[in-house]
Amino acid sequence: MSDFKVDRLKRMEQAMLTCTMCGFCKSVCPSYKESGWDTSAARGRVILSYGLTQGDLEPDEEVMEALYTCTTCMDCYRRCPSKVDVVGIVEDARKDMVAAGNMLSKHEEIVSKVKELGNPYGEERSVPESLGEEVRSASLAYFAGCTATYRSESISKAALSIFKKLGEDFTVLDEVCCGSVMGRVGCPDEDITPLMQRNIDNISSLGVETLVLSCAGCYRMFKEDYPKHVKVPFRVLHFTEWLVGRKPVLRPLEKRIAYHDPCHLGRHAGVYDAPRQLIGSIPGATLVEMTNNREQSRCCGGGGGVRSAYPEVARSIASARLDEMEADILVTACPFCVTNLKAATGENMNIMDITELVDCLL
Ligand code: SF4
Ligand code: SF4
Repeated sequence: MSDFKVDRLKRMEQAMLTCTMCGFCKSVCPSYKESGWDTSAARGRVILSYGLTQGDLEPDEEVMEALYTCTTCMDCYRRCPSKVDVVGIVEDARKDMVAAGNMLSKHEEIVSKVKELGNPYGEERSVPESLGEEVRSASLAYFAGCTATYRSESISKAALSIFKKLGEDFTVLDEVCCGSVMGRVGCPDEDITPLMQRNIDNISSLGVETLVLSCAGCYRMFKEDYPKHVKVPFRVLHFTEWLVGRKPVLRPLEKRIAYHDPCHLGRHAGVYDAPRQLIGSIPGATLVEMTNNREQSRCCGGGGGVRSAYPEVARSIASARLDEMEADILVTACPFCVTNLKAATGENMNIMDITELVDCLL
């Protein structure tokens, strides 16, 4: 057995010893609420992961479903008195399953598109072509991410519009997928690191000092995962962090605005204030917090590869989240959350990325 696997087993054993079976995680786990089975709650997933890594369990359909309906939202970790790292353990178990040749067919499709074309949507257009912008040297660069480039273009267009309205000297990037989707579904680091290095080399060659990102998942990758594997020689900011520093002067909007915290921006990366400060800077607007907000925010249901492999679960979790909203507009700060939340509505709910909202008012 490799040292790597021994380390994982030790971590899982430690987690099982630490878990007191209190069940607090069940009260927040969005996928447990959908299935009602203990195997789909945080503590159940830790036990399944251990059984798999030990070789006591086979990765059959039910085991795969229990481990791949985890959205990696991290709410269990927040709630857990013993601080069991469920996301880390689930992601390790996914890596073991993938290494043993077990990957969900939907994820296989996505991963092969990333490897072949550099994005999970199978698009052949490059990012600069899609955005209609040239790549050039500049100290400020925008990493649009695959979803805001190929599926929710209005968000990347809004970001570019804001740069231009504020007179910024910026560049778009000849980017490839940040690697988030591959990391979340269990691909080995050897497959993801080349994507990281390619992005870093492209960005560095332009003399970039500050990288600004729209997507919470890409942001988490650059901020937390990239530094573990590659050198990141520039500052990384989420679009909201950068924008709040520019103090945009916005037109009034007499609306009640709710804010949904993306899990990968909030709980994973600790960014809660910048989006709220931006909403607070809109004259006439009122920020109406959702029932569960900030650290206690509930997941939109789309992350961790759940939306692609189990779309019904993703939609149902998004519906539950939308039930908490009592405002005129729901704003979030991640193109992937926007897509997943919109898929759960009959399009009769006003849901937008904060970039789009700011661009309308600038
Ligand atoms: S990360 Fe989220 S979905 Fe996964 S076990 Fe924890 S609470 Fe449940
Ligand atoms: S909250 Fe933590 S200690 Fe309690 S059952 Fe869940 S994982 Fe175990």
